[in-house]
Amino acid sequence: MKMIFSHPSRNVEAVSSFPLSYVRGSGAQLWDADVDKKYVTKHISKNIILNPYCFMGGIVLTASHNPGGINNDFGIKFNCSNGGPAPDATTNDIYNLTTTIREYKIVPDIQCNIDNIGVSRFKVGDKEFVVEVVDSVKDYVEYMKSIFDFPKIKALLQGTEQRKPFKVLIDSMNGVTGPYVKRIFLEELNASDGSVRRVVPLEDFGGAHPDPNLTYAADLVNEVKNGDFDFGAAFDGDGDRNMIIGRNAFFVTPSDSLAVLASQLQEIPYFRSTGVKGFARSMPTAAAVDRVAEALGKEMFQVPTGWKYFGNLMDAGRLSLCGEESFGTGSDHVREKDGLWAALAWLSVLAASGKSVEEMLVAHWQKYGRNYFTRLVDITARPVVEGFCRGWLPCYRQRQDYAF
Ligand SMILES: [Zn+2]
Repeated sequence: MKMIFSHPSRNVEAVSSFPLSYVRGSGAQLWDADVDKKYVTKHISKNIILNPYCFMGGIVLTASHNPGGINNDFGIKFNCSNGGPAPDATTNDIYNLTTTIREYKIVPDIQCNIDNIGVSRFKVGDKEFVVEVVDSVKDYVEYMKSIFDFPKIKALLQGTEQRKPFKVLIDSMNGVTGPYVKRIFLEELNASDGSVRRVVPLEDFGGAHPDPNLTYAADLVNEVKNGDFDFGAAFDGDGDRNMIIGRNAFFVTPSDSLAVLASQLQEIPYFRSTGVKGFARSMPTAAAVDRVAEALGKEMFQVPTGWKYFGNLMDAGRLSLCGEESFGTGSDHVREKDGLWAALAWLSVLAASGKSVEEMLVAHWQKYGRNYFTRLVDITARPVVEGFCRGWLPCYRQRQDYAF
């Protein structure tokens, strides 16, 4: 049995070149019981399909987008051999198995420093037990460089004779994307140190609530609003969610973000080589992307909430891009949503268009029409819902007359 095991509170900046299942967490351990070998990696890596180790799955210890640390959330995710989240049947099986556990054994005297790259060997009973710490930052960066045109994004950020530098502010919210953001934006794209913030992963996210939205990423929003920035992005604690904003903190709803990317995938080298298959969204996500699918003659799928439902469509070769209103965007480059990928995708289409984020959205609405979207989380908000339906929908229909 081969497993990858990830730990969100550790910061492993080591070097690895092996592709793993796409698993989140700032440190990950891969356990291969067949050879009594355990691997440890940073957190993001390629899809298990590309994985020569054929891991059965991955266990991710992550608070995701919730406050983390000793007094807050501690979550566990299981990703299957295709790199995607476990389906209900698997999690039910796991639960049922837990009810039959009668004992477990631990080896308390193994002290393994997973912050340093390398191999550690231990003796457990009469067997050798090996832990290998690897780094998937390099792996992920190489993968992103094969998906996107990095020189083009670099030219956007650095500026050209025709265009002034495009200033970005990327916020890792003290989550696990920090080392990836530093490597990609500071080293690969030569952005200035002031282009990134909160890039040190902290066990408790520095007290932050790492949910990339207007409420919990308000300080990023204010910094973009009050500063000289053309683009802002924030990611949650385990790096799968993203928020995109433009100059003056112009907010892009996740539903619009999905639709704009769907309409512009031809600007991304990966999709030029794979072709654009279908699109998908979760049921509560606004149908803006449906309009793009119809215009482009692509298959469009609506699935229940949960990223696992996208995986089947990807495995069937019918889905290229998908998203959820809960700030999740991803493609078939992996079987999970990918915040950093979404930011690079946005920079790619902005580089190709020459437009600002706001100009991009306005042009999109003018071409495809606009879907209004808001999140209501409280049943006491019912009057607001009714008001929304009575007030906005007629307005929305009217605005359709203007093709806006
Ligand atoms: Zn998350």
